[in-house]
Amino acid sequence: MSPNEASIESEWEKGPQTIEVPGGKHARVRRRPLDTFYKAGKIPNALMPAVRAAIIKGDDFNVEDFNDQQIFDLLSVMDMIVVECTETPRVYPIPVCRTCHGVGTADQEVGPAKKKTIIKVDCPACEARGEEPRDPDRVYVDEVPFDTKNFIYSYVIGVTEDLKSFLEQTNGSVESVPERETVGSKAK
Ligand SMILES: [Zn+2]
Repeated sequence: MSPNEASIESEWEKGPQTIEVPGGKHARVRRRPLDTFYKAGKIPNALMPAVRAAIIKGDDFNVEDFNDQQIFDLLSVMDMIVVECTETPRVYPIPVCRTCHGVGTADQEVGPAKKKTIIKVDCPACEARGEEPRDPDRVYVDEVPFDTKNFIYSYVIGVTEDLKSFLEQTNGSVESVPERETVGSKAK
């Protein structure tokens, strides 16, 4: 083993590590570089140019230049990374309804037998919520505080500095991204 290889190994811990997340809580998280998700086809199209530049040129994401779709996709990537890389506590994806696939409406045939037409009705499986019922013992990704998700995301892909700048750059705009259900609304 060359000295270079040795230093890479010591920088990049193997296996899951227990880290302290904002708020003083702890999570056991597995690190994975961004190109792993790129190769797995898990980067949405709107983010591809920025991710390509990050991988090939080492450019930081310039979130200030991101349009709404790119911000939305970055938040989705953060959720995906938190779900895939947090081992303890296990974090579950938002439970999308298998009948309507999250749309909230389902096809229903109406009319006489020979002249049936299909109309959209509220999905009977989820009553138009687009979600299957949540297990109260599970942590779902949209219930994890944003700063915690942001921290885990940056830790996983190894860009703690970028994370900070993302928070600073999007100050305020992150709040306006619609969420299906938040911890606050659940507590009502
Ligand atoms: Zn449904």
